Amino acid sequence: MAASIGAPRVLLRRLREIMARPESPQDRLDKIVVQIAANMVAEVSSIYLRRQDNSLELFATEGLNPDAVHNTHLARGEGLVGLIAERAQPLNLADAQTHPSFSYRPETGEDPYHSFVGVPILRGGQTLGVLTVQNRVRRHYSEEEIEALQTTAMVIAELIASGEIDGAGGVAQVLQPARSVKIDGQVLSEGIALGHVVLHEPRVVPTALIAEDVGVEIARMKSAMDELTNRIDTMLSRRDMARAGEHRDVLEAYRMFAQDRGWRRRLTEAVSTGLTAEAAVQRVQTDLRARMLRQRDPYMRERLHDLDDLSYRLLRVLAGASDTAAVESIPADAILVARNMGPAELLDYDSTRLRGLVLEEGSASSHVAIVARALDIAALGMVEGCVDQVDPGDEAVIDAETGEFHCRPSQEVVDAYSDKVRFRAKRQQQFARLKDRPAVTTDGAKIDLLMNAGLLVDLPHLDESGAEGIGLFRTELQFMIASAFPRLNQQMKTYKAILDGAGGRPVIFRSLDIGGDKVLPYLRHDHEENPALGWRALRISLDRPGLFRTQIRALLRASVDRELRLMLPMVVDISEFDAAKALIEKERAFLKVHGYAEPKAVMVGAMIEVPSILWQLDQFLPHVDFVSVGSNDLLQFMFAADRSNIRVADRYDPLSCAVFRALKQVVVAANRYNVPLTLCGEMAGKPLEAMALIGLGFRAISMAPASIGPVKEMILTLDAGHLEREVSSALESKETSLRPMLSAYAARNGIAVGG
Ligand code: PEP
Ligand code: MG
Repeated sequence: MAASIGAPRVLLRRLREIMARPESPQDRLDKIVVQIAANMVAEVSSIYLRRQDNSLELFATEGLNPDAVHNTHLARGEGLVGLIAERAQPLNLADAQTHPSFSYRPETGEDPYHSFVGVPILRGGQTLGVLTVQNRVRRHYSEEEIEALQTTAMVIAELIASGEIDGAGGVAQVLQPARSVKIDGQVLSEGIALGHVVLHEPRVVPTALIAEDVGVEIARMKSAMDELTNRIDTMLSRRDMARAGEHRDVLEAYRMFAQDRGWRRRLTEAVSTGLTAEAAVQRVQTDLRARMLRQRDPYMRERLHDLDDLSYRLLRVLAGASDTAAVESIPADAILVARNMGPAELLDYDSTRLRGLVLEEGSASSHVAIVARALDIAALGMVEGCVDQVDPGDEAVIDAETGEFHCRPSQEVVDAYSDKVRFRAKRQQQFARLKDRPAVTTDGAKIDLLMNAGLLVDLPHLDESGAEGIGLFRTELQFMIASAFPRLNQQMKTYKAILDGAGGRPVIFRSLDIGGDKVLPYLRHDHEENPALGWRALRISLDRPGLFRTQIRALLRASVDRELRLMLPMVVDISEFDAAKALIEKERAFLKVHGYAEPKAVMVGAMIEVPSILWQLDQFLPHVDFVSVGSNDLLQFMFAADRSNIRVADRYDPLSCAVFRALKQVVVAANRYNVPLTLCGEMAGKPLEAMALIGLGFRAISMAPASIGPVKEMILTLDAGHLEREVSSALESKETSLRPMLSAYAARNGIAVGG
């Protein structure tokens, strides 16, 4: 019997002939089953297709009672055929009638047939039907036979997808419109977005499945495999930030797969059976997928992802397409969907056409999330399986308030979100009206509202938000999106452009804060067990004074005739601050000797983001010109909770009394030494948290530009002196968190903390 499968090419040739003739779809299906039965030396071959109610209808048969065609329906999950459709996996049985799922249908006349093999007819993750073969004798079908059936199922799937089966035999539409899906994720950048899906790495769906000339297809496959390996090698050697860090591991895995002999052999074998190179890729992908899905091991499932990606890459090579969506031709309401993406890749797109971003990976502190916030687009991360669930052009909604991604939403969902978007737009208008109003509390306390930035694209937000300046400019972002260390002149140009854009408003430049989760692919960095506690920020600057001095020189020269405010990250004690300051002074002296003009003033400040500083405030503050609390890092270290690990990042409340008692010391000491104080971590942008900070004594806070409106609205309704007394006594109490007290206070006093 196995000899029968020596002829998959013959089967494919026959299928091609059938597809080429001008025949009705029903005639085609009828002929396909005859061919399968002949080719597999089987007594029965049948095709069942899924109807809109999810039942499976017998559409064509060779061997069963012809009267059963279009009359036999199996309910969802019913019988062996239903089981195959449910599981989307082949079933191979020597004695089908003893299987618990066997369902006897007298009208089909299948009593004498014992052995049974069925495969799902799959397309784009949907089961469209089931293809079966039966024999009288009890036998197991070989792997090769099952593969031949799967290949035929692919051809049938294409026939259905082309819309030809519609109306076959007078029945209604077979293909169901794909269902709506909702997947939860983590908010990376707040907002609501309605738009249409663009796959960052587009999928190529092969249309021609059967080879015209097998020799040509074998040659195409070989050169595509070689080209694929080349592309991956180029990406790995290209020192491109977008592909660095964790992405590098993925690329290494791709390379391993791409060079895997087993994979290459399977592809070559599949194409030798008479498939086109594209169809062979799809065939092998489906097989391996089925195999890997049977493994419970999460590592293998992760590899499945890699395999899918690699197959799509190979298909793109075959189609002569590039690896990412054509950045210039995306729709005007694009929702980008990707497994992961680097910040530079996101910046490649025309941001005026981007509405949102949905990633399977990506945490809130990942670089791409920071860029998404800078571009002010709604973004979600950790949206499991999103790439597989969408098709390009699908309508989609991102709710980056609650963390929901809706694909192909129902009209009600679209209407509800359209309302929400209108509501947000109205709120934005209200905030826009506040933009020129000073942020003064009802009892006359003036609060400086500053914004965080890191890219030139951020600068227009200064005017739009009404921020009074830039409280934190993360200079490392410019470095992260570059492919080599930016040279002195380049850096100077950027800093000058920022100061020009700020138009006289103060800008606090933070010196390079790399390391931890922020990697520069062109800076050698050994693997670290605990990167958040590792070689990062000021530590790198002190160990690599050449890098640091170049940045300082660029900043000094860009600030001629202006004030330079320079802030040092991750300062741990005075000696580090003094060492950095000495390098800065050296640079100033160097420029002076060489006749360069000086900035009007140079102020050097520090971030308070390592707990050790909390116990050195009296010694430390007299040394600095200003300080800013980096609550993101400070909280991560206080609670020993990695800020980029979603399991622990949100476990502790920034409004806990422990945090506020520590911050209180900072406020008191800063007042004592008359050192300007701000806070520039994420908590400053949340109205309730910002209210608490003001209640503690903060008078300057820096946040994402989109938060300035809501925070200002809160300030305009707040009596700061009154709240300060309440906060003081709450900190004396036994409570662990200020949150309940603050929420009640806001509600009682009509303070706008709703966001
Ligand atoms: C912080 O740590 O709070 C901070 C503002 O800096 P970054 O988020 O860049 O570490
Ligand atoms: Mg920090």
